[in-house]
Formats: sequence, structure tokens, C-alpha cells
Amino acid sequence: MSNKPYTFGPVPSRRLGRSLGIDFVPFKTCTYDCIYCQLGRTTVKTVERKEYAPVDAVLKEVEEKLKTIAPPDYITLSGSGEPTLHSGIADIITGIRKISDVPVAVLTNGSLLRIDEVRDAVSGADLVIPSLDAGSEETFLRVNRPHGSIAFQEMVEGLRTFREGFRGPVWLEVFITGGVTDTEDEILKIKDLVDRIAPDRVQLNTAVRTPAEAYAGMVNSERMEEISAFFGRNCEVIADYRGVHGHSEFTSTGEDVLELLRLRPCSIDDISAGLGLHRNETVKYVQELMDKGLIRMEERRGKRLYSGHRMTTTEGENEA
Ligand code: SF4
Repeated sequence: MSNKPYTFGPVPSRRLGRSLGIDFVPFKTCTYDCIYCQLGRTTVKTVERKEYAPVDAVLKEVEEKLKTIAPPDYITLSGSGEPTLHSGIADIITGIRKISDVPVAVLTNGSLLRIDEVRDAVSGADLVIPSLDAGSEETFLRVNRPHGSIAFQEMVEGLRTFREGFRGPVWLEVFITGGVTDTEDEILKIKDLVDRIAPDRVQLNTAVRTPAEAYAGMVNSERMEEISAFFGRNCEVIADYRGVHGHSEFTSTGEDVLELLRLRPCSIDDISAGLGLHRNETVKYVQELMDKGLIRMEERRGKRLYSGHRMTTTEGENEA
């Protein structure tokens, strides 16, 4: 299975500035199936590490892409699956270092950091951003719906061991799911684990984008700030509420997506193929349009289709 194109963006990122994304694990191939995942449900839940995409092809594309863009702030290994599932991630990081001075960040759910080989593989990065979304085995199973071989305490121990041994910064992303992990009790438990792991920063997120399961709720910004204050000085809220409140920027590519959806209902794959966009970019544009109420989603025979409302001139003026 190939993910080509392997690069997307650069996309503006609140945390990472202009970030060139690298995606080398097939769509929704992941060790988790998080209820809040904005990419939908996991299609292949696995812990099998293999060369999901040829390392040489990934590096060649990164090299070509870098020739066509201004240097990004970060090259970010992330994408539409769990990047540490790729058995060649160490070679990809080393290869990027040979062709570029741009710092390399890895966004990972952290579930495989309990494995020595994975910790070694990721240690070549400049910045690692793993996740912790639950304070107990019970909520871990409920929120992350992990592969059966992943035990909660081992996963936490993997995060702790990685933090201890990694020379660079570790920013721990904690996703607070409204109606599930936003209780006093759960926050206390998560805080205990965060103290054990001792990351350089704690970044709080919540479901500001359409989650895989409708019951994965968004926590409002006031409550998130309260939780952040409780976590302490190195904690910040990174949830981007601008989309929720309709203030996000709108690009010409976003307008192309809207035009297409006004012509006919499309799935994410249809839009990506039609406009030559990476799936992750498409998801981002579609989400913005959903947030602005310019398109709607409906399920037909298990497939999510998006369609745009035809605008009147007055609506068009309001949008600007
Ligand atoms: S949020 Fe990340 S870790 Fe969770 S299912 Fe989606 S891709 Fe996997």
C-alpha cells in the first residue's frame, strides 16, 4: 500500500510554524482507534512494524519538495497513521538530516515507545510530541481503543523511559475528551502520570474538529484553561477554537474545495483525487468548511459524503 504523495503542506501549525508534513504509513493504519480522531475510525489496527512505503521514495519526494518551497520551520513526521509503525523511520530521519537543516519533529501516539528499537529510531529527531489521553487503563481502553497487545502501564512506562533518554525536547499532548476525561478524578490521575513522565511541555487539546465518534465531546476554552492552570507552568492549551467560532483563515484552495462540493457531493478521497491534494490537507479544508457551515456531511451506504450549499450573492458578501 502506498500513501503517495508522501509530503503535504507546508501547513500552518500553531505549535510548529510552517510545517512540511511527511506521511508514510497508509491512511488510518494505527495502533489506536481514538474516539476523537479527526480522520475517522481506524481501518487497520495493528502493531506490525514494516516498510509501509519505500524509504528511498519518501526521501526523494522530500528532497524534490524542498526545492520548490521556502524552508519550513519544521519537517514533521505525522500524517494519517502512526508513524512509528514504519520500520524505516530511523532511516527516514537520518535521510532528511542529510538533505536538509530543517529541524525534524515526530508526532506519535507514543504507544510503541515501550519498545527499545522504536525509542532508538525516534531519537534522531529534534522534537518528539507523543500523546497521553487517559489516567487509567479503563479510560485508555475507552478513549484510545488500543490494539489488544498494548497495556496501559507499559505504554506510560515507554513514555517515561523515552523522556529520560531522549536528548531533545518532549512535548506531551494530552487530549481531554468532554464527557469522558474532563472529570476531576480523571484529570488528577492524568496529572500524576504527567508528573512521572516529566515532559518539557504539556499541550492540552480537545475535540474542536469533528471526531470519529459523535460522543467525544469538546471541552470549552474556560475549562481547558482551568485544567491547564492545574497542570502547572509548562502547560498550555493548543486546541484551536478559531474554527469553532468561525474565525479561521480561508485560502484559495479552500475555495476550490467549496466550488467542487457545490457541483457534486464528494468523499474525502474524491476531493483529494479531484484537486490533487493530500488526504490530510483535504480533511483540514473540509473541516474548515464544516465549521463555517458552508458544507454538510451525510452518510450514504457507510460512506461520508460532503456537499456545498449553493450561495446567494448576499451570503457571498457575508463570507468575505
Ligand atoms: S488520533 Fe492519532 S493515534 Fe488516535 S486513531 Fe487517530 S491517528 Fe491514531
